[in-house]
Amino acid sequence: MRNNKRRGHYNRRKRHSKKYYFKKFIRNTLVTFMVMLTFFVGVSLVLILASKIKDKENNGIEIYTADTDYDKALDDVDIITDYRMSGKEYVVLDAGHGGKDTGAIVDDIYEKDINLPVTLYLRDILVENGVSVILTRSTDTFIELEERAQIANDAEATMFVSIHCNYYEDDSDISGLECYYYPDDVDSLCFATDILDIVNSNGVTIGRKTVAEDLSVLRNTNMRAVLIELGYMSNSTNLKQLQDEDFQIELAYEIAEGIINNLTENDD
Ligand SMILES: [Zn+2]
Repeated sequence: MRNNKRRGHYNRRKRHSKKYYFKKFIRNTLVTFMVMLTFFVGVSLVLILASKIKDKENNGIEIYTADTDYDKALDDVDIITDYRMSGKEYVVLDAGHGGKDTGAIVDDIYEKDINLPVTLYLRDILVENGVSVILTRSTDTFIELEERAQIANDAEATMFVSIHCNYYEDDSDISGLECYYYPDDVDSLCFATDILDIVNSNGVTIGRKTVAEDLSVLRNTNMRAVLIELGYMSNSTNLKQLQDEDFQIELAYEIAEGIINNLTENDD
């Protein structure tokens, strides 16, 4: 009687064991699956995060396209034309100087602090008008001249536009915008002329002239390239204008129109 009971009890335990092991097998499989899933999701997240950090540190290169979400310098942007840049084409905008390199200084006004806002307005206007933009800097940071050209060359940019202000101590009467291009570079001369034409037709400031000059960023860039001297900081009226937000925005619109005209001309 006692033996039978024991045997019965023993047999029952044995029958339950099969189910138990089956359930255990399923449970272990699920746990293993979940652990592996968590591991892969974790590794993927770390990789995505690392690549994002790497992008941010990627020589400060920032790409803006029509669907880029970023803090705009301009609240509203008027549409100049329905131009839409095709494929992976970029316009590189280069705000002159930055960081320890102030550029020209008049009293406590630094050239770098005029170049940057105009460049940011120009970025907003171009992006809203369908042009993809890369900035060499979007903050007050120092970048070597060679690196500025390298950013454009690495991106195989369509055009390069450097934004500066002029200073001429010998004659404070001189004012107005000038557009520099590399000597004998016909495409860049056409580009410079397109910008100057718009500036002169709108009359917000004087478009003085196009100038052929062997400047580092013009020499080292592989695409058509201009360096725009927005105005003369050595001229007191021009200096006041250059610091004025409305004037900066007007200039940015004129340069944007010149850029888009040149892009359209070269589209065919
Ligand atoms: Zn400069």
